Amino acid sequence: MPGFELFGEKEKQSVQDVLDSGVLMRYGFEPMRNGHWKARELESALAGRMETPHAHLVSSGTAALTVALASAGVGAGDEVILPVFTFVASFEAVLSLGAVPVLCDVDDTLTLDPGAVSGLITEKTRAIMPVHMCGSMADLEALQALAGKHGLLLVEDACQAIGGSYKGKPLGSIGEAGCFSFDFVKTITCGEGGAVITHSPDIYEKAQAYSDHGHDHVGRDRGAEGHPHLGYNYRISELHAAVGLAQLARLDDFIGIQKRHYEVLEGAVREIPGVVLRRVPGGGVQNYSFLNFFLPDADSARRAQRELSEAGVDGVFYWYDNNWHYHRRWEHLKGLKSLGALPAETARRTREANDRDFPDSDAWMGRCLSVLIKLSWTEEAVRRRAAALSNVLQEVSG
Ligand SMILES: *Cc1c(COP(=O)(O)O)cnc(C)c1O
Repeated sequence: MPGFELFGEKEKQSVQDVLDSGVLMRYGFEPMRNGHWKARELESALAGRMETPHAHLVSSGTAALTVALASAGVGAGDEVILPVFTFVASFEAVLSLGAVPVLCDVDDTLTLDPGAVSGLITEKTRAIMPVHMCGSMADLEALQALAGKHGLLLVEDACQAIGGSYKGKPLGSIGEAGCFSFDFVKTITCGEGGAVITHSPDIYEKAQAYSDHGHDHVGRDRGAEGHPHLGYNYRISELHAAVGLAQLARLDDFIGIQKRHYEVLEGAVREIPGVVLRRVPGGGVQNYSFLNFFLPDADSARRAQRELSEAGVDGVFYWYDNNWHYHRRWEHLKGLKSLGALPAETARRTREANDRDFPDSDAWMGRCLSVLIKLSWTEEAVRRRAAALSNVLQEVSG
């Protein structure tokens, strides 16, 4: 990733189709459309690729999480368990519904630790939200078992993992709902955009109405449509969908490129004493968007990042110190620095749930580095990076 590295004729033509018709709205305007329904076509292609009967596009990955949770019935006071390593969006989406985000430890998969999840379930828990960070997943079978036992929803944040799979099923298609982001840096991009996929006709019906002011979309004139429940505007535009439609057709090629580059880099670090690769649960297949590994301790991880940067290797992330992806720097979230007042009970319980340390996660994340795999690298550039990785990591961890 990111998919914008390889924009080509397909993306240009698809956008041109929309500009030629002048219809930027995904619904209505039938006489003007020249037969182009970019959002609908992308939904149908995405549902097909993800092996779910339904896919609904929205304006961002954050919107997808919000819409999926709302459509699955999560509301004020419900608790949602999510990992300390994610993007702030996962926390925001829960809080925006008046629900209570409950942060949970990650393990050496860099995603939810099922044992830690189990310890956080209360009678208010409504959903577990695994986040497939950096292209790989948690032990989803264990999480499904917990969800089944306690009657909880499993809502997957697959924003960084499109194209990966678990036990033969596409990531995102395993829980009650799965969410993708197509923002400007994701593996496939619309500029801004996202999607909810689901097997549930009920969640789908609610999601498409909820993200368009409650419109029922049963085929009447737009002004005459009914509003079965309230909603907001999380719509995607035809222009954004046009880019995504061209990109989705290339997803499997993109994953193939990422995998080829990943394997060269992985080969260079696998045998280095003291370096341990991130654990991928049995039956899991990554989307190869990052190479993730652990060094012996935090000092060596920091030093490796610095030396890699000096050696000209960019795109190496030390998430432990990151403002947006790891709980340590989320004082605005944990401190609920909201512009207006939040519902009092949501605020109180969110503070109570998250005012604690996460030493188990810190122990893993403090040692972890992630190397972004780019689509545009030449074979030569991949080999140079592999050599630099091998040199620096041998020196640092030896
Ligand atoms: C990108 C991302 C999101 C949010 O997606 P946007 O489209 O940027 O709103 C949510 N969760 C994760 C894990 C992400 O990486």
